[in-house]
Amino acid sequence: MNIVWRYISHSRNTYAGLYAACEKYGYSLEPVDGPEGDIICYSLNSLNYNLYAEEMREAEGIVITGGPHPSACWDEVLRDADYVVVGEGERTLPRLLDALTKGGDPESVPGVASKNGLTPTDHSVRLDAYPCFSRMKGYIELSRGCPFNCGYCQTPRLHGNRMRHRSREAVVELASKFRDARFVTPNAFAYGSSDGVHPDVEKLERLLSSLTKNNIYLGTFPSEVRPEFVLPETAELVVQYCSNKNLHFGAQAGSDDVLRKLKRGHTIDDVMKAIDTCLDFHLLPVVDVIFGFPFETDEDQQKTFDLVKEISRYGKVHVHLLTPLPGTDLAGTVCRDILPDIDSKLGKLAQNGHVTGYWHEKIDWAK
Ligand code: SF4
Repeated sequence: MNIVWRYISHSRNTYAGLYAACEKYGYSLEPVDGPEGDIICYSLNSLNYNLYAEEMREAEGIVITGGPHPSACWDEVLRDADYVVVGEGERTLPRLLDALTKGGDPESVPGVASKNGLTPTDHSVRLDAYPCFSRMKGYIELSRGCPFNCGYCQTPRLHGNRMRHRSREAVVELASKFRDARFVTPNAFAYGSSDGVHPDVEKLERLLSSLTKNNIYLGTFPSEVRPEFVLPETAELVVQYCSNKNLHFGAQAGSDDVLRKLKRGHTIDDVMKAIDTCLDFHLLPVVDVIFGFPFETDEDQQKTFDLVKEISRYGKVHVHLLTPLPGTDLAGTVCRDILPDIDSKLGKLAQNGHVTGYWHEKIDWAK
């Protein structure tokens, strides 16, 4: 059987990981640009799902899909696909391919949803068991899973609340394939931490000091950090070992009340301390902020704008408009409009280049 991967640039990192995982079990997922093959695999998020829904429905071969969106609403997605890999795919996808090509029962594969329902998964991936790339290159995944439960985020729903780390030896081996080492993780400064909530600075330093042959980029896209992890000890490691001159973290809102409702697990004070720490270590703070939470009042929105304005004096702010994603606490809610006065002030701040992002068009994945 001809088994292929629908290449979509947004999911190329997932492709790199699943290509390597399937290769271990004897499957080579060749990339295609359209609905070809006897079995075609997709990985989709909530923002691009609708671009591929019709293509999947009309594909002649067997369609398998996975990723954040199909995992969150697999029952709806089964209108468009034959099987959904719910959650992590490294073990589940090869098992499903085995069942489809060797006469097994695909519907009983753990972690797979089909028209007859979901068979619950029976494992959680150990990162060292799967390299994050082989022939198809991708970023190095340091850690997976997140102990926080931010109301707008799909990550803990997809990968669980227990943070798992790739071993230092495995990271060094993967990094040896590159001159520049860039990482994927929900929180780069949590590397090695047993609970993901408190940094383990010693383990982080041991990792960074082992990557002697690389230019290291940590705490910047795609390995952002949480504000309360930006401490003198962690910032110092960036200065000592890394090539990036910035630190990227999420503040998300300007009021403690909104942060509490979001279950962010940090305060505005943590954000301001993180900015001070960046400045003390001559690192540029790059901060994410979201407008439009359904419970945000006019006053909350003004406080978020005040925070944007304050940060933009010292660093950069990425402004986003909320997308209520399926599977999250905010699924099914409606994003609030930005007040006209704040919208116009954000526009003015954007002119000096300290505020970037796109906060005009609401993204409705359900359209
Ligand atoms: S936003 Fe970050 S910290 Fe919050 S749940 Fe998602 S990955 Fe975890």
